[in-house]
Amino acid sequence: MSDDGKSPEAGDPRKLLEEKILEDHARLGPKDKFKFGCHPGVSCFNTCCSDVNIFLSPYDVLRLTERLGITSTDFLEKYTLLPVHRDMTTPVVLLKMNEDEAKPCPFLTENGCGVYTDRPWPCRMYPVGLATSKDTEDGWRGERFYFLLEEESCLGHQEAKEWTIQEWLDGQEVDAYDEWGEAYKELSLHKFFEDIGDLTPSKMEMFFNATYDLQKFREFVFGSTLLERFDVHEDFIHQMQTNNEALLRFGFLWIRFAICGEPTMKVRAEAEQAVQESLEKRVLSKKSKSSESPQKDSQ
Ligand code: SF4
Ligand code: SF4
Repeated sequence: MSDDGKSPEAGDPRKLLEEKILEDHARLGPKDKFKFGCHPGVSCFNTCCSDVNIFLSPYDVLRLTERLGITSTDFLEKYTLLPVHRDMTTPVVLLKMNEDEAKPCPFLTENGCGVYTDRPWPCRMYPVGLATSKDTEDGWRGERFYFLLEEESCLGHQEAKEWTIQEWLDGQEVDAYDEWGEAYKELSLHKFFEDIGDLTPSKMEMFFNATYDLQKFREFVFGSTLLERFDVHEDFIHQMQTNNEALLRFGFLWIRFAICGEPTMKVRAEAEQAVQESLEKRVLSKKSKSSESPQKDSQ
């Protein structure tokens, strides 16, 4: 048992994996070098895309749904697993492998990755991993560093091509993934989740829809009174109608407001006034009822 009384198995699987990796691997910086090559000529080509745990971020899901031309709801149902763990404070989404014996990734083809330009962040980064050393007091994480994953079965490590970590990252076009990944990490490591513990099922669903299931979040944003109640710039509303990244950005703001209690949204003056008037009406109605009731009693 650990100091906090939880069993070692307890905890968010992403954090547990990261902690295990930190124990076993050397920390690398952007200028550190490694040798690696992955191409159809290596005899292990395609073998690493089976029976593998790939955690998907909201941005991974966004890119893949756009690539496949399907809704997030359909994508999540068909291609993902949503493991539930008692210590999870925010959703965990895993890419679901096919059910054949070898459990290949559903996007694997004879020629390699069938969604290559939109492949998820972990597939881009491999064999380089990214970790952060420890939580800071404000809920953000401390030092960032890289490490090298060197499975024996991966013959790419025997190739002569040399890279610095930075060259590798540039070649894999991870910038947008990194930006969204950082924003999501910051959100999911928000101090609120540490203080409050588990989310209620309805708040967990809200979090999930606003980050991963943008189809459902779109229905909520445009099919409810939300945009009448909050002051959202009309350019931003227009962007959200046509652009999933804008909608995801709004989703992060919404979670910070509706779950974490941050002032990221402003209630419209008219909505505020309507609420005030309705409250006043209710108070007046209560008063008039209570002033009527003693007369009734005395009759
Ligand atoms: S998404 Fe592409 S790179 Fe990633 S596991 Fe599947 S086939 Fe391999
Ligand atoms: S095992 Fe390594 S070298 Fe082989 S295909 Fe996978 S990443 Fe490339």
